[in-house]
Amino acid sequence: MEENKELKPCPFCGSENVRMGSRGCSFGVDIYIKCDCGAKVQIMEEIGEEELVKRWNNRA
Ligand SMILES: [Zn+2]
Repeated sequence: MEENKELKPCPFCGSENVRMGSRGCSFGVDIYIKCDCGAKVQIMEEIGEEELVKRWNNRA
């Protein structure tokens, strides 16, 4: 999956080392953005990456 979207640094620790990924769960697939410090935003894949990025950035 190609990613050109701008992710803001982690709102908690300020790290720019944030990663986007996905994982299956019993209800389908979740996509997430997370940081080494444990900060995480996670939503259902069908809601879309754009919304995921928006939520992360709004928290930052
Ligand atoms: Zn962090």
